[in-house]
Amino acid sequence: MNLVLEGLEDYCRAHTGKLDELYERLRVETYANVKSPQMQVGQIEGRFLKLLAQLSGARKVVEVGTFTGYSGLSIAEGLSEGGELHTFDIDPIATAIAKRYWDEAWWAKDKITLHLGDARALLAEYLVSSGPIDMAFIDADKGGYITYWDAILPVMRPGGLIVADNVLWSGHVLAPQHEDDHHIVAFNQHVAADSRVEAVMLSVRDGMFLARKK
Ligand code: SAH
Ligand code: CA
Repeated sequence: MNLVLEGLEDYCRAHTGKLDELYERLRVETYANVKSPQMQVGQIEGRFLKLLAQLSGARKVVEVGTFTGYSGLSIAEGLSEGGELHTFDIDPIATAIAKRYWDEAWWAKDKITLHLGDARALLAEYLVSSGPIDMAFIDADKGGYITYWDAILPVMRPGGLIVADNVLWSGHVLAPQHEDDHHIVAFNQHVAADSRVEAVMLSVRDGMFLARKK
Protein backbone atom coordinates (compact mmCIF):
# COMPACT_ATOMS: atom_id res chain seq x y z
CA MET A 1 0.00 0.00 0.00
CA ASN A 2 1.38 3.48 -0.72
CA LEU A 3 1.95 6.10 1.95
CA VAL A 4 -1.06 8.25 1.11
CA LEU A 5 -3.38 5.24 1.33
CA GLU A 6 -1.78 4.14 4.61
CA GLY A 7 -2.17 7.64 6.00
CA LEU A 8 -5.81 7.69 4.94
CA GLU A 9 -6.42 4.31 6.55
CA ASP A 10 -5.02 5.69 9.84
CA TYR A 11 -7.26 8.74 9.44
CA CYS A 12 -10.33 6.53 8.92
CA ARG A 13 -9.41 4.49 11.97
CA ALA A 14 -9.05 7.62 14.09
CA HIS A 15 -12.59 8.64 13.11
CA THR A 16 -14.20 5.23 13.58
CA GLY A 17 -15.93 4.10 16.78
CA LYS A 18 -13.77 2.93 19.66
CA LEU A 19 -13.66 -0.68 20.79
CA ASP A 20 -13.77 -2.57 24.04
CA GLU A 21 -10.18 -3.25 25.20
CA LEU A 22 -10.82 -6.98 24.65
CA TYR A 23 -10.39 -6.51 20.89
CA GLU A 24 -6.89 -5.10 21.32
CA ARG A 25 -5.90 -8.04 23.50
CA LEU A 26 -7.31 -10.45 20.92
CA ARG A 27 -5.42 -8.66 18.17
CA VAL A 28 -2.13 -8.81 20.08
CA GLU A 29 -2.56 -12.51 20.98
CA THR A 30 -3.46 -13.41 17.39
CA TYR A 31 -0.42 -11.59 15.98
CA ALA A 32 1.87 -13.15 18.62
CA ASN A 33 0.72 -16.79 18.45
CA VAL A 34 -1.26 -17.62 15.31
CA LYS A 35 -0.27 -18.26 11.69
CA SER A 36 -1.50 -15.71 9.10
CA PRO A 37 -2.75 -13.16 11.66
CA GLN A 38 -3.46 -10.61 8.92
CA MET A 39 -6.58 -12.66 8.11
CA GLN A 40 -8.20 -11.03 11.13
CA VAL A 41 -10.56 -8.16 10.31
CA GLY A 42 -9.41 -4.98 12.04
CA GLN A 43 -11.10 -2.08 13.77
CA ILE A 44 -12.79 -0.53 10.75
CA GLU A 45 -14.18 -3.70 9.20
CA GLY A 46 -15.12 -4.96 12.65
CA ARG A 47 -17.10 -1.81 13.45
CA PHE A 48 -18.63 -1.97 9.97
CA LEU A 49 -19.82 -5.56 10.54
CA LYS A 50 -21.38 -4.51 13.83
CA LEU A 51 -23.15 -1.62 12.11
CA LEU A 52 -24.41 -3.89 9.32
CA ALA A 53 -25.80 -6.36 11.85
CA GLN A 54 -27.59 -3.50 13.60
CA LEU A 55 -28.93 -2.00 10.36
CA SER A 56 -30.21 -5.32 9.11
CA GLY A 57 -31.94 -5.98 12.43
CA ALA A 58 -30.17 -9.31 12.45
CA ARG A 59 -31.41 -12.03 14.77
CA LYS A 60 -29.87 -15.01 12.99
CA VAL A 61 -26.43 -14.64 11.44
CA VAL A 62 -24.14 -17.19 9.78
CA GLU A 63 -20.37 -16.67 9.56
CA VAL A 64 -18.09 -18.91 7.49
CA GLY A 65 -14.50 -18.45 8.69
CA THR A 66 -14.29 -17.89 12.47
CA PHE A 67 -10.50 -17.82 12.94
CA THR A 68 -9.70 -16.30 16.37
CA GLY A 69 -13.13 -14.76 16.70
CA TYR A 70 -12.67 -11.03 16.06
CA SER A 71 -15.31 -10.68 13.33
CA GLY A 72 -17.72 -12.88 15.29
CA LEU A 73 -17.34 -10.73 18.39
CA SER A 74 -18.02 -7.65 16.28
CA ILE A 75 -21.15 -9.12 14.69
CA ALA A 76 -22.40 -10.33 18.08
CA GLU A 77 -22.27 -6.72 19.33
CA GLY A 78 -24.76 -5.71 16.67
CA LEU A 79 -27.25 -8.57 17.12
CA SER A 80 -30.81 -7.80 18.18
CA GLU A 81 -32.24 -9.08 21.46
CA GLY A 82 -32.24 -12.89 21.42
CA GLY A 83 -29.98 -12.95 18.39
CA GLU A 84 -27.73 -15.87 17.44
CA LEU A 85 -24.48 -16.14 15.51
CA HIS A 86 -23.59 -19.53 14.02
CA THR A 87 -19.98 -19.56 12.96
CA PHE A 88 -18.06 -22.25 11.04
CA ASP A 89 -14.36 -23.11 10.99
CA ILE A 90 -12.16 -26.12 10.46
CA ASP A 91 -9.28 -24.98 12.70
CA PRO A 92 -9.46 -26.20 16.33
CA ILE A 93 -6.45 -24.13 17.44
CA ALA A 94 -7.57 -20.70 16.22
CA THR A 95 -11.14 -21.29 17.37
CA ALA A 96 -9.99 -22.29 20.87
CA ILE A 97 -8.66 -18.73 21.17
CA ALA A 98 -11.97 -17.42 19.82
CA LYS A 99 -13.95 -19.29 22.46
CA ARG A 100 -11.86 -17.87 25.28
CA TYR A 101 -12.56 -14.30 24.19
CA TRP A 102 -16.27 -14.92 23.54
CA ASP A 103 -16.60 -16.28 27.09
CA GLU A 104 -15.08 -13.09 28.41
CA ALA A 105 -17.22 -10.68 26.37
CA TRP A 106 -20.47 -9.84 28.16
CA TRP A 107 -22.20 -8.98 24.87
CA ALA A 108 -21.39 -12.32 23.29
CA LYS A 109 -22.50 -14.59 26.13
CA ASP A 110 -24.70 -17.46 24.88
CA LYS A 111 -25.07 -15.82 21.48
CA ILE A 112 -22.30 -17.55 19.53
CA THR A 113 -22.32 -21.20 18.45
CA LEU A 114 -19.17 -22.64 16.88
CA HIS A 115 -19.56 -25.39 14.28
CA LEU A 116 -16.12 -27.01 14.09
CA GLY A 117 -15.29 -28.90 10.88
CA ASP A 118 -15.35 -28.49 7.11
CA ALA A 119 -17.93 -25.81 6.36
CA ARG A 120 -18.65 -27.34 2.95
CA ALA A 121 -20.45 -30.16 4.77
CA LEU A 122 -21.45 -28.57 8.08
CA LEU A 123 -23.02 -25.42 6.66
CA ALA A 124 -25.41 -27.26 4.33
CA GLU A 125 -26.35 -29.55 7.22
CA TYR A 126 -27.08 -26.61 9.52
CA LEU A 127 -29.10 -24.71 6.93
CA VAL A 128 -31.55 -27.61 6.46
CA SER A 129 -33.25 -26.70 9.74
CA SER A 130 -31.89 -23.23 10.59
CA GLY A 131 -34.92 -21.21 9.52
CA PRO A 132 -34.39 -17.91 7.64
CA ILE A 133 -30.99 -16.21 7.92
CA ASP A 134 -30.88 -12.39 8.27
CA MET A 135 -27.19 -11.83 7.61
CA ALA A 136 -24.22 -13.88 6.46
CA PHE A 137 -20.49 -13.20 6.44
CA ILE A 138 -18.41 -15.32 4.04
CA ASP A 139 -14.70 -15.26 4.96
CA ALA A 140 -13.29 -18.83 4.80
CA ASP A 141 -11.32 -20.65 2.06
CA LYS A 142 -11.60 -18.70 -1.16
CA GLY A 143 -12.22 -21.87 -3.22
CA GLY A 144 -15.39 -22.45 -1.21
CA TYR A 145 -16.96 -19.01 -1.65
CA ILE A 146 -19.32 -20.03 -4.51
CA THR A 147 -20.39 -23.18 -2.62
CA TYR A 148 -21.12 -21.13 0.52
CA TRP A 149 -22.95 -18.45 -1.46
CA ASP A 150 -25.15 -21.00 -3.25
CA ALA A 151 -25.92 -22.78 0.02
CA ILE A 152 -26.81 -19.65 1.98
CA LEU A 153 -28.70 -17.53 -0.53
CA PRO A 154 -31.85 -19.73 -0.81
CA VAL A 155 -32.17 -19.65 3.00
CA MET A 156 -31.73 -15.89 3.34
CA ARG A 157 -34.76 -13.86 4.37
CA PRO A 158 -35.81 -11.50 1.55
CA GLY A 159 -34.11 -8.21 2.44
CA GLY A 160 -31.33 -10.09 4.23
CA LEU A 161 -27.68 -9.19 3.73
CA ILE A 162 -24.77 -11.33 2.55
CA VAL A 163 -21.29 -9.91 3.07
CA ALA A 164 -18.24 -11.50 1.41
CA ASP A 165 -14.72 -10.49 2.43
CA ASN A 166 -11.43 -10.12 0.53
CA VAL A 167 -13.08 -9.72 -2.86
CA LEU A 168 -10.22 -7.50 -4.12
CA TRP A 169 -7.62 -10.06 -2.94
CA SER A 170 -4.84 -7.48 -2.52
CA GLY A 171 -5.52 -6.28 -6.07
CA HIS A 172 -4.83 -9.67 -7.68
CA VAL A 173 -8.33 -9.68 -9.19
CA LEU A 174 -6.98 -7.29 -11.82
CA ALA A 175 -4.28 -9.73 -13.00
CA PRO A 176 -5.11 -13.17 -11.57
CA GLN A 177 -2.27 -15.72 -11.52
CA HIS A 178 -2.56 -18.07 -8.57
CA GLU A 179 -5.41 -20.47 -7.84
CA ASP A 180 -7.06 -18.31 -5.19
CA ASP A 181 -6.85 -15.23 -7.44
CA HIS A 182 -8.98 -17.13 -9.96
CA HIS A 183 -11.36 -18.36 -7.27
CA ILE A 184 -12.07 -14.81 -6.15
CA VAL A 185 -12.49 -13.58 -9.73
CA ALA A 186 -14.96 -16.41 -10.44
CA PHE A 187 -16.87 -15.65 -7.23
CA ASN A 188 -17.12 -11.95 -8.05
CA GLN A 189 -18.52 -12.76 -11.51
CA HIS A 190 -20.95 -15.24 -9.94
CA VAL A 191 -22.32 -12.59 -7.56
CA ALA A 192 -22.44 -9.82 -10.16
CA ALA A 193 -24.48 -12.10 -12.46
CA ASP A 194 -26.86 -13.33 -9.75
CA SER A 195 -30.29 -11.79 -10.31
CA ARG A 196 -31.49 -12.89 -6.84
CA VAL A 197 -29.52 -10.07 -5.20
CA GLU A 198 -28.67 -6.39 -5.48
CA ALA A 199 -24.93 -6.17 -4.86
CA VAL A 200 -22.39 -3.43 -4.22
CA MET A 201 -18.64 -4.03 -4.21
CA LEU A 202 -16.76 -1.78 -1.79
CA SER A 203 -13.02 -1.15 -1.57
CA VAL A 204 -13.07 -1.19 2.24
CA ARG A 205 -9.84 -2.86 3.44
CA ASP A 206 -9.32 -5.86 1.09
CA GLY A 207 -12.70 -5.40 -0.61
CA MET A 208 -16.18 -6.33 0.63
CA PHE A 209 -19.18 -7.45 -1.38
CA LEU A 210 -22.51 -6.39 0.11
CA ALA A 211 -25.52 -8.15 -1.35
CA ARG A 212 -29.17 -7.76 -0.40
CA LYS A 213 -31.48 -10.62 -1.23
CA LYS A 214 -34.48 -9.46 -3.26
N1 SAH B 1 -13.35 -13.85 9.96
C1 SAH B 1 -12.08 -14.11 10.63
C2 SAH B 1 -10.98 -14.49 9.65
C3 SAH B 1 -11.23 -15.79 8.92
S1 SAH B 1 -9.74 -16.41 8.22
C4 SAH B 1 -11.64 -12.87 11.41
O1 SAH B 1 -11.94 -11.77 10.99
O2 SAH B 1 -10.93 -12.99 12.39
C5 SAH B 1 -10.28 -17.79 7.31
C6 SAH B 1 -10.68 -18.99 8.14
O3 SAH B 1 -11.29 -19.94 7.26
C7 SAH B 1 -9.52 -19.72 8.83
O4 SAH B 1 -9.68 -19.69 10.23
C8 SAH B 1 -9.62 -21.16 8.29
O5 SAH B 1 -9.39 -22.17 9.27
C9 SAH B 1 -11.06 -21.23 7.81
N2 SAH B 1 -11.31 -22.27 6.80
C10 SAH B 1 -10.56 -22.57 5.73
N3 SAH B 1 -11.12 -23.59 5.04
C11 SAH B 1 -12.25 -23.93 5.70
C12 SAH B 1 -13.26 -24.93 5.51
N4 SAH B 1 -13.23 -25.78 4.47
N5 SAH B 1 -14.27 -25.00 6.39
C13 SAH B 1 -14.33 -24.14 7.45
N6 SAH B 1 -13.41 -23.19 7.68
C14 SAH B 1 -12.38 -23.09 6.83
CA1 CA C 1 -11.05 -11.90 5.63
